Amino acid sequence: MFVVIGMWHYLLRLRILVGLLTGHADLDRHLTLMKVRSDPTCPLCQEEEETALHLLGRCSALSTTRSTLLGLYRMDYTELGNI
Ligand SMILES: [Zn+2]
Repeated sequence: MFVVIGMWHYLLRLRILVGLLTGHADLDRHLTLMKVRSDPTCPLCQEEEETALHLLGRCSALSTTRSTLLGLYRMDYTELGNI
């Protein structure tokens, strides 16, 4: 049973990673393009469209967490590519 749960957990993480890399994650910009949502604005900070780059590197609401985990308050594409 543990092996099955572990595999589903791995597949869920893989799905999230692929979604973030391809821009097809369940983020508001993509959901707005898919006409599932009507506002692409980040619900955490309300400053920019919620994209993978915004969520991972720019969202001010996550800057403290980002700094704690990765040592940087903000990251651009180059810095994201180095992690
Ligand atoms: Zn944000």
